[in-house]
Amino acid sequence: MDCIFCKITKGELPATFVAESEHAVAFNDISPRQPVHVLVVPRVHYTDIAELAVADPEVLADVIQLGVRVAELTSTGSFRLQFNTGIEAGQTVFHAHAHITSTTPRA
Ligand code: AMP
Ligand code: ZN
Repeated sequence: MDCIFCKITKGELPATFVAESEHAVAFNDISPRQPVHVLVVPRVHYTDIAELAVADPEVLADVIQLGVRVAELTSTGSFRLQFNTGIEAGQTVFHAHAHITSTTPRA
């Protein structure tokens, strides 16, 4: 399958990794829209968060826990955790992922 996030999670494409867990990896967004913009991506391929939530709640929980850890590592407090789901919502990569964004990076 020609999926860019599968390639990144397997180490076949480069990324700037921030943290990882048993089921997910976190790396900087290539085109950041906030001072902190990190993607949290499950190692297993699901099209979007709706599919992941039904199929694999353990991985879903791991993605959210890693997202919170990334926010603590990279920002001083306030952050957003966002899942774009579907074309109309702005999803462009169809491998489930969370965006962690913050306007207050940790120095
Ligand atoms: P979405 O629009 O919610 O599907 O988010 C996809 C995100 O992936 C966008 O914010 C892109 O900037 C980001 N992105 C695309 N290709 C790469 C890449 N090779 N490395 C890191 N981030 C990427
Ligand atoms: Zn994939």
